[in-house]
Amino acid sequence: MSWLNKYDRPVYIAGPCSAETEEQVIRTAVDLNATGKVDVLRAGIWKPRTRPNSFEGIGSVGLEWLVNAGKETGLKVTTEVANTKHVELALNAGIDILWVGARTTVNPFTVQEIADALQGTNIPVMIKNPVNPDLQLWLGAFERFEKNGVTDLIGIHRGFSVYNHAKYRNVPNWEIPIALKEYRPETKVICDPSHITGNRDLLLEVSQKALDLNFDGLMIETHPDPVNAWSDSPQQLTPKHWGELIDQLILRTTELPKDVEQLINDLRLDVSTIDDRIFDLLRERMLLSEEVGKLKRENSITILQQEHWRKIINSRLAESSEYNLTPQFVRKVMDAIHQESIRHQTRIMNLNK
Ligand code: PEP
Ligand code: MN
Repeated sequence: MSWLNKYDRPVYIAGPCSAETEEQVIRTAVDLNATGKVDVLRAGIWKPRTRPNSFEGIGSVGLEWLVNAGKETGLKVTTEVANTKHVELALNAGIDILWVGARTTVNPFTVQEIADALQGTNIPVMIKNPVNPDLQLWLGAFERFEKNGVTDLIGIHRGFSVYNHAKYRNVPNWEIPIALKEYRPETKVICDPSHITGNRDLLLEVSQKALDLNFDGLMIETHPDPVNAWSDSPQQLTPKHWGELIDQLILRTTELPKDVEQLINDLRLDVSTIDDRIFDLLRERMLLSEEVGKLKRENSITILQQEHWRKIINSRLAESSEYNLTPQFVRKVMDAIHQESIRHQTRIMNLNK
């Protein structure tokens, strides 16, 4: 059971990437609260920065600012903890909810240390996905807290690190939070579009996508003067723009009205018939691959014919738009078919050796 269960709409968490001054924290809180569209105030006090000599957080003095901002507005407050000391200071200061950052979730030693420091409390903890796309590490972090009796847990999807992506700061890989929900159906997961996009212009698009995928809330960085923010400036929004963004979101329901349900079920039946055909075709295709494999075996030819594969993949990619498919999707499908075909041919090669 989570504190989040009491909401019958997405939960909204907003606040600066970093607490910078008392005035900035209070102003953000008051302005956000005035929009009437925020439930929890966030601010980083200790900042895990990629390079040294960047602003690494104001430190423990910021805890008091955050708690005071919570008292003044009635908002719950949350901050990131990354070691035992942070936990002790945050608990003593009266922070309502803690979060574990993406650079912490990757490290089981640190997660364990935090879980141990929290044993005997049941403070709510939000667990960000690890920076690398590893579902097991994310699941493992939940398990470490639960083993210590810390059970009021939710997930935060903040995207996954990649080198120089054209669009995102951290790629969403939506299939990973969806898989988390599959393994942990009771666990609420919210989305952090700020760290996925790294860019305030993309926040609406990613937030809407998260809600359409039935995420349970959003955490978005907001700052009274984003351009001059001490960290993550390009992705922060003013509280006013936050209010406008939330207003533009379309909330959809998971409930299907009876008549629509019938229509959707009919379509699903047709989809499933097509999927049956796809799989029948794949079986036939692999039988042909095995025939090719036999000829390669009899004539001592390598399985992989680099030039042939290059031609096939290039012509398929070139046709992507004719099929109304993205080249990325075509690449994934072709790679999967090719891998499976190689597996079949390898099996044939190894027969009667
Ligand atoms: C943050 O929320 O400010 C933060 C540091 O996030 P992450 O751990 O996702 O990088
Ligand atoms: Mn940030």
